[in-house]
Amino acid sequence: MTEQWEHTDAKLAEQWTRIRALLRAEVGDAAFNSWLKPLTLGEILGTRLRIAVPTRFMRDWIEQNYGTKLTEFWKEENPNISQVEVIVEPQRTNVQAPLEGLRGQGDLRTTLVSSRTSNEIEGGVNEESIKDETENVQALLDKRFIFKNFIVGRTNELAHAAARRAAESDQVQFNPLFLFGSVGLGKTHLMHAIAWHITERDPKRRVLYMSAEKFMYQFIRALRFRTTMDFKEQFRSVDVLMIDDIQFICGKESTQEEFFHTFNALVDQNRQIVVSADKSPSDLDGMEERLRSRLGCGLVADIHPTDYELRLSILQDKADHLGAELPDKVLEFLAHKITSNVRELEGALNRIVAQSTLVGRPISLETTQEVLRDLLRANDRRVTIEEIQKKVAEHFNIRLVDMHSARRARAVARPRQVAMYLSKQLTARSLPEIGRKFGGRDHTTVMHAVKKVEELRSTDNSFHEDVELLKRMLEI
Ligand code: ADP
Ligand code: MG
Repeated sequence: MTEQWEHTDAKLAEQWTRIRALLRAEVGDAAFNSWLKPLTLGEILGTRLRIAVPTRFMRDWIEQNYGTKLTEFWKEENPNISQVEVIVEPQRTNVQAPLEGLRGQGDLRTTLVSSRTSNEIEGGVNEESIKDETENVQALLDKRFIFKNFIVGRTNELAHAAARRAAESDQVQFNPLFLFGSVGLGKTHLMHAIAWHITERDPKRRVLYMSAEKFMYQFIRALRFRTTMDFKEQFRSVDVLMIDDIQFICGKESTQEEFFHTFNALVDQNRQIVVSADKSPSDLDGMEERLRSRLGCGLVADIHPTDYELRLSILQDKADHLGAELPDKVLEFLAHKITSNVRELEGALNRIVAQSTLVGRPISLETTQEVLRDLLRANDRRVTIEEIQKKVAEHFNIRLVDMHSARRARAVARPRQVAMYLSKQLTARSLPEIGRKFGGRDHTTVMHAVKKVEELRSTDNSFHEDVELLKRMLEI
């Protein structure tokens, strides 16, 4: 009897080894190491085979995600088996830190050895748990980043409205909320505002806000300290998960894999997810396709570059907050000149106010220009002749090639003159240089165009407005 059992055991073990190899091939190394590797073979009861896992959470996950596969593979290997039962048996199983999953994945391994956080990982310092972070999320939020301080304009109204909706409603209306826009335009501000709002309204809701970078480090640390199960469970127990700057995990496969599972588990439980990035989901190169499509399937709201009106409102609001007296002319000048992003705009304002307080001189346009000389130079928009030609052609609805062509019909000649005029006004190019860019025309032709446009601007109001509009569009 015993002999027969040993024989059966050995056979089962052999079959199990083959099945594990099949599973690994099927789901990939990372998922295998996270989920399937800790499984151990249990006993066989009639036609039922038992597989043991260390936690209930894992059992549910395995059943839900890999149950069918497991049964299918077993049935093929062993016709006596008709059912696979996943049971929880903590002491039996040997939970391993799946560091093997990192093999061949340069990103994580390099981070482990080279990044400053490697000390953190090695030394085990800074051992705050994710649990503390959800209980204490407010401590991690910037006090200034609340809805009240967020100025809404045309360029960010959608993102703002979506953020408010996510913060105010009790039901999940879109999942995830994906906010994107380039740096310094208020993504983090909006995310903090959501977290503030939710936790203030209902302190019991567990909100976890984290940069994608930190998510990755926490994940690596969990691998290192063999606490991946805790990691998974803690992430999966939050009501709202907010991950900032998700583009950070582009190209980082294991972290993406982990995030993907977290994401799905939370969506399944109808928990809100908010994600930000510097690009739209479809533009996130190095992001796995399935994750990209998940990220894009809720509400995607972009924050466009600021426009003049928004910049001016932000400046007015911030100047009020600082209690600083700034002449309108200075605010308008800044709103006009510092177009890159809100962070720089704020920085510029702070510098001017600080300087004026320090030297005890009132703020004027001159002092502003002096204090911000370097910043202004960097923000100088260098619009190119090509951009001008393109914009003007679009505006007058002519073909771009007609900017260079010899056609003299008024319908193309006039827009071409406008483009030459704007090139003279908005770039530092000389007349001959401009002429060359317009199909090798002579500098006198450019001169003539400039004169003609000036003349028309003073006599034809709608023409004047057209040119003004173009100029403003090009200067933004
Ligand atoms: P991002 O995360 O998109 O890089 P942040 O949210 O960090 O940008 O914003 C940069 C700075 O600009 C912050 O100080 C933020 O408060 C401020 N800011 C951005 N947009 C606005 C806005 N619409 N109103 C007020 N402040 C803003
Ligand atoms: Mg940010």
